[in-house]
Amino acid sequence: MTARDASAPLLPAAIDAGWRAEGGCLLAGEARIDALAQRMGTPLFVYSRAVIDARIGALRGALPPGIRVLYAVKANPLPALLEHIAGAVDGFDIASGGELARALAAGMAGARLSFAGPGKADDELVQAAAADALVVLESADEARRLARLGGGRRPRVALRINPPFELAPAAARMGGGPRKFGVDSEQAPQALAAIAALPLEFVGFHCYAGSQCLDANAIIATQRMTLDLMAELARLAPAPVRLLNFGGGFGIPQHAGESPLDLARIGSAMAALARDAATCLPQAALTLELGRYLVGEAGLYVCRVIERKVSRGRTFLVLDGGLHHHWHATGALEGRRHLHFPLALANRLDAAPTETVTVAGPLCAPHDIFAHDVPLARAEPGDLIAVFQSGAYGPSASPGGFLGRPGAVEMLV
Ligand SMILES: *Cc1c(COP(=O)(O)O)cnc(C)c1O
Repeated sequence: MTARDASAPLLPAAIDAGWRAEGGCLLAGEARIDALAQRMGTPLFVYSRAVIDARIGALRGALPPGIRVLYAVKANPLPALLEHIAGAVDGFDIASGGELARALAAGMAGARLSFAGPGKADDELVQAAAADALVVLESADEARRLARLGGGRRPRVALRINPPFELAPAAARMGGGPRKFGVDSEQAPQALAAIAALPLEFVGFHCYAGSQCLDANAIIATQRMTLDLMAELARLAPAPVRLLNFGGGFGIPQHAGESPLDLARIGSAMAALARDAATCLPQAALTLELGRYLVGEAGLYVCRVIERKVSRGRTFLVLDGGLHHHWHATGALEGRRHLHFPLALANRLDAAPTETVTVAGPLCAPHDIFAHDVPLARAEPGDLIAVFQSGAYGPSASPGGFLGRPGAVEMLV
């Protein structure tokens, strides 16, 4: 995709997620964004319960019954959001002791937590065992450490496999080739033998090949290869396999030209997958752990225009918010700086584009840019710019300490 394609407006995809407008002003729930910005201050992240609920409902509707859906806390760990989503999913995927504490504080039962991630510290393993969380083992050494630290509890474990394949169209890959994630599939037999000899309760496998994938066929093919791999490894497992965790990775359209994931297609493929799993591994519950897909489209980042300036023929809008809150939207997280997230003049949505602008943050750093040369109605200082698709990997995935600026306000409506 070229930089030129990236300048096409992407508002329709964002609006599809359920955002509405009133009198030209974007609404979050029933509230006008201009009123919210006035009341809460800017920069402001707004997350919509209604959009999250609609997404989870659509997902449940598309998937065959019996597939468990976990929420990956690292996508958005805001306490109010965790409390809301806790009642709508089957558990949380956590990746640190801090996320474990937040998950428990949000009311999620310890037994519904799945703790993955390389390099778990001893105290994190102790906390996970004490909470009765499932520990997704990333190495045989980690299995030995957990057994030592488990306090005589026989912690529940799954083995994360680094498969021989990858999810090629994914923006971020976690499997295939040499990885810090999981145990290489060819070393899984030794790891399973090690687990069998330890005071651990083996429940199944975890395999997660990549994130932010919009290609349903690639996800379906990868899930199929994953099931085949797990079924083969199950013959060496120390106990019947009760869990097959296929990880996350369902993508959302973030850039011009991207289309939403074909959920119906994935749903029917997963129905066939579940039937086959029921034959070869009858006790296994199929699990997905999704972050971005559940919350990404439910968030807006709302900034005020501080200044407009023209430099050698290029018009810049300088906002009060920047990459210190929303690094992801600058394309940095996935190495796509030439692309941009959909954005709009939130308090005058109905104004037709009349100029081409570069939308920049306030940081004293040249890479603090949200969009290069995009069409927009003329915006003045005080106007509000909303960046869509901002519900996942926002503040918690940004370099908040950079340049000593205050954090963004975050709210759930
Ligand atoms: C990050 C992560 C996820 C969620 O990834 P998304 O792309 O946001 O769906 C799921 N599982 C694990 C182990 C992760 O690290």
